[in-house]
Amino acid sequence: MSNPTYLWTPPPVPSLPVQGRVERLPVNRLFFVGRNYHAHAIEMGRPVDKASERPFYFTKSASTLVESGATVAYPPGTADYQHEMELVVAIGAPGFRVSAGDAHALVYGYACGLDMTRRDLQLAARDKGRPWDLGKDVEQSSVVSAIVPMPGRVLDTGALSLDVSGQPRQRSDIARLIWNIRELIADLSGFYHLQPGDLIFTGTPEGVGPVRPGDRLDGRIEGVGDITLHIGNAE
Ligand code: MN
Repeated sequence: MSNPTYLWTPPPVPSLPVQGRVERLPVNRLFFVGRNYHAHAIEMGRPVDKASERPFYFTKSASTLVESGATVAYPPGTADYQHEMELVVAIGAPGFRVSAGDAHALVYGYACGLDMTRRDLQLAARDKGRPWDLGKDVEQSSVVSAIVPMPGRVLDTGALSLDVSGQPRQRSDIARLIWNIRELIADLSGFYHLQPGDLIFTGTPEGVGPVRPGDRLDGRIEGVGDITLHIGNAE
């Protein structure tokens, strides 16, 4: 059927503003890399040995996407909602089984991201061998700044920081990624046909911690930009 009709109005296409463009970037899937900085893997009690391990991933619904500057309610079902500041890669070209050497061709641009997490539920699920969805696939938990177009560019370095209500929480550099941008795109494209609009949250460094209603989160990645989030009251 070329012009389908629907029972009710379909949800809007998730999208993000693009720096210097009127058009918005339509978002397809949200991929997240787990434990991709050594100091964070250690603070989570699960150190990583790159020689014997591969990256691992989880996903969130694209409907969890929120733009930088938003105020989000403190979510239900948790007493330990936490911040994870991350570099986000926006994919701009399709790719399947891409080599690390060719991975740059899939890059459209970059953004700052927050992978907000119900840590208590994530860890309970992890320790019981259950899925992470209740801990990670939280409504309004995937916060992203405007996409900065850098087609074909691979970022290797850049200071990353996050402050919560003026207090320093996370300080690192994307040079400390265990699996770098090229390696992540190559690896992930072995499992998925990557598509324009897929976003890859590349993992968070050490210093993750709780937020409270009334907090203001301010993140920054050198060469990419800034991100802000306000935590509102619980519903
Ligand atoms: Mn994360």
